[in-house]
Amino acid sequence: MFKSILLAYDGSDHAREALAVACDLTKKYDAKLRIVHTPQAVADTLIVGYTAVPVPPTKEELEKAGREVIGAAESGAREHGVASFTSDLVSGDPAHAIVDQAKAVDADLIVMGRRGLGSLRGLLVGSTTTKVCQLAPCAVLTVK
Ligand code: ATP
Ligand code: MG
Ligand code: MG
Repeated sequence: MFKSILLAYDGSDHAREALAVACDLTKKYDAKLRIVHTPQAVADTLIVGYTAVPVPPTKEELEKAGREVIGAAESGAREHGVASFTSDLVSGDPAHAIVDQAKAVDADLIVMGRRGLGSLRGLLVGSTTTKVCQLAPCAVLTVK
């Protein structure tokens, strides 16, 4: 049924649940696992006088953080018994990056968390997942 499974990974607990499901399906269907992560800028704060000023990370800092996140996904995949996979860091808006990557790897299933790192905001379904469900060229499995 599924031949190319794309895992969207943001390093959250939800994404780790999605990783476990993606690996299980990869093995069951003898599919190819593809992992994608989009590094996202979380501004640090610099205190200037009495004012806190957000400082966006440099491109290098963002890429380094992204490599750490995708490295964690790769170790997780190996722990779940999937030794062979592809992984990509894609910049831009996460939802569009995931959908573009799904097209690029000809995914027939996208696996992602129902929520992610920003889940403190109280959304039932995160904005990345909502957008991917609307734009995806294939089935989307949201993991709780
Ligand atoms: P929001 O971002 O809307 O504040 P959220 O972070 O709780 O809320 P989403 O961003 O929709 O929710 O995250 C849901 C899932 O989408 C994650 O579990 C992960 O699978 C995927 N995802 C989110 N952000 C990224 C990203 N930057 N790169 C790859 N996958 C992502
Ligand atoms: Mg998010
Ligand atoms: Mg759960």
